[in-house]
Amino acid sequence: MTKKQSRRQFVSELTALAAGAILAACGSSTATVVPALTATTAAGSTTAAGSTTAAGSTTAAGSTTAAGSTTAAGSTTAKPTTAVGSTTAVGSTTAVGSTTAAGSTTAAGSTTAATAVHWTYEGKEGPAFWGDLDPSYAACKVGKNQTPIDLTTLTKETPLKKVETAYSNTNLTIGNNGHTIQIDYDKGSTLTIDNKQFDLAQFHFHAPSEHKFNGKSFPMELHLVHKAADGSLAVIGIMMVEGAENPFLAKFWDKMPTKVAKETYKLTINIKDSYPSNQAYYTYQGSLTTPPCTEGVRWIVMENPITVSKAQVEKFISVIGDNARPVQPLNGREVGEKK
Ligand SMILES: [Zn+2]
Repeated sequence: MTKKQSRRQFVSELTALAAGAILAACGSSTATVVPALTATTAAGSTTAAGSTTAAGSTTAAGSTTAAGSTTAAGSTTAKPTTAVGSTTAVGSTTAVGSTTAAGSTTAAGSTTAATAVHWTYEGKEGPAFWGDLDPSYAACKVGKNQTPIDLTTLTKETPLKKVETAYSNTNLTIGNNGHTIQIDYDKGSTLTIDNKQFDLAQFHFHAPSEHKFNGKSFPMELHLVHKAADGSLAVIGIMMVEGAENPFLAKFWDKMPTKVAKETYKLTINIKDSYPSNQAYYTYQGSLTTPPCTEGVRWIVMENPITVSKAQVEKFISVIGDNARPVQPLNGREVGEKK
């Protein structure tokens, strides 16, 4: 990978960061490295400088924390492994990724922003405690519009008039962030809900599924994370049932990093190859399913599943383990349905 390519890649990852979703990667993750490099990149990049996100990295670049991340970036020159261990870089992750930090110099330097709080799917840092691990994770505990939920037959007609996807090819950038396997998507693929356009930023997997259908869970669930220009998010969830090998996954499943890392391959894939042909869906207002559990996320959950082989599920679990947040209370929210 040339320097230019790697810069472009990191800038696009910064965009993914703004989506909040990559924040799922805390502690010992690739994301720890990426923003550190981005902070450096952003300084010299016109593209990044023009975006809102870059404001965050510029702030970080001026802070003490960023000084450390610049060092990490400089010393490792895009080699994730070395920088992963750097505490300073962890700080810059939070600062860059946090909305508060983006607009505030103080936040970038504060203790909260300087520590990426670790979380897990079990034990004392598990889902039941996420809201207590850090003030910025409060929504995980006090939020009233949390995801996932159990989708029951008690649905209304969808409030959405038009849902359209236009997915192009992407180069394969596949990462293990310690919480999931995530594929970052190149710019240019969109989801349009009524008149609002969202860009596909990344897709990732959960095992077992996070959503349930009438109490029933599935071996896996695919999440397509989209972000609009105003920062709002829309996620498409697709259930995965055990059956025939999934040919789309087969293209890159053997490339999934078994440790925290991110790799780019000269391989083109298209997420539309992994989309149920029947377009029926459920829709509701929810949140990210990982800390900080940010709300205001439009969820579209496809009613029809895609298949995944037993071996493909086992491969994922052998690398990531179980990574499903339990279902959350509906709290009076209405679930719409398009048949
Ligand atoms: Zn997810």
